[in-house]
Amino acid sequence: MPKDHNPAQLPPPAACSESVCAMLDRVGVPRDSKWRGLILYMRSIKSYDFLDNEQKEQFQALVMEVLRARDFSDAKFREVIKANERILSGPWNRALTRTLAETAALVQEFQDTLFRHKGGVQKLADVTVETVETGGDVDRMLGTIRRGFQEMVTMIEEDAEKMVALTLTDALTAIANRRAFDEHIDRAVTTSVMERRPLSLFMCDIDHFKRFNDEHGHRIGDQALVVVGSILRGFAKEMKQLEDRDIFPARYGGEEFAVTLLDVPKDEAEELADIIRRKIERYNFVIRDPDGQILAAGIKINVSIGVAELLADCPATDIAHLVDAADKALYLAKSSGRNQVRSYVRP
Ligand code: GH3
Ligand code: MG
Ligand code: MG
Repeated sequence: MPKDHNPAQLPPPAACSESVCAMLDRVGVPRDSKWRGLILYMRSIKSYDFLDNEQKEQFQALVMEVLRARDFSDAKFREVIKANERILSGPWNRALTRTLAETAALVQEFQDTLFRHKGGVQKLADVTVETVETGGDVDRMLGTIRRGFQEMVTMIEEDAEKMVALTLTDALTAIANRRAFDEHIDRAVTTSVMERRPLSLFMCDIDHFKRFNDEHGHRIGDQALVVVGSILRGFAKEMKQLEDRDIFPARYGGEEFAVTLLDVPKDEAEELADIIRRKIERYNFVIRDPDGQILAAGIKINVSIGVAELLADCPATDIAHLVDAADKALYLAKSSGRNQVRSYVRP
């Protein structure tokens, strides 16, 4: 797979095979022009494995449209480049829209919760006052009040659960936060020890993220964190559905993520970490100005990951030791050149 597929930096028109060249001649694509390079690029990008099926179909349709229209003007060229970038950034836009919608839903839920209590208390007061004022049956009034309070208790219990869920969620990435990680790993360590099941942990840190923020701004930096969060969440979900594995990703802090893997020994955790590393490496960022115009595409982020296993890499069932071992492995990955996975090795 070519490392860079940003059409703005296309190589000079590629030499095409005889049959493809003949086909391009037949449909009138000018020779030795940027068009030939673009069309060859668009034909080949269809088979890149980082594209989803929807994107592949869109590329196919774009090539067909260009060949059908036979408009090889500069204006059309710019239009096709834009369409190409729009297709590339599709999954990112979908992920961002989903996260924004989820955040909006959480805020709405929070508001509803507050209003529900207010409304419930008001309703109870109304019923009581009305019964007293109209000199109604006292037994009936007490029954109504009792039912009203029971309803309120149920509501408060449900809402308390939702509030707890909110306090365990990272507001930016919508995955588990540090507090949720602490609670989860505590339980996971107990399960691992009691049931003699392997437990691995990896710490995943974005490479040169300070530089990324400096170059592209904090807002784009935040988007990068959302993307890493959604890749981790998607991976955990997939592993649960396909293999019933319990993988728990969390935002540990800043640009660092922790992933707890129950029933996964270190060598396998290392393989899984590398799958995630590659997924992130393949991701393409698109940067837009406030009007939504694309300023740059094909921007990459990388992560380094350190892996450690409970007991194999730490002297006791001590969470701090386990995190420390994964951190040391992460440091090794960083000092060995970044964008790689390293396992903890005992000194
Ligand atoms: P390394 O490859 O060694 O990890 O380098 P680095 O630049 O990623 O590491 P460093 O610890 O020097 O910088 C981390 C940067 O992460 C600095 C900080 O501004 C950024 N960061 C942390 N949290 C957030 C956040 O919530 N949003 C954004 N945009 N940036 C964040
Ligand atoms: Mg970093
Ligand atoms: Mg860091």
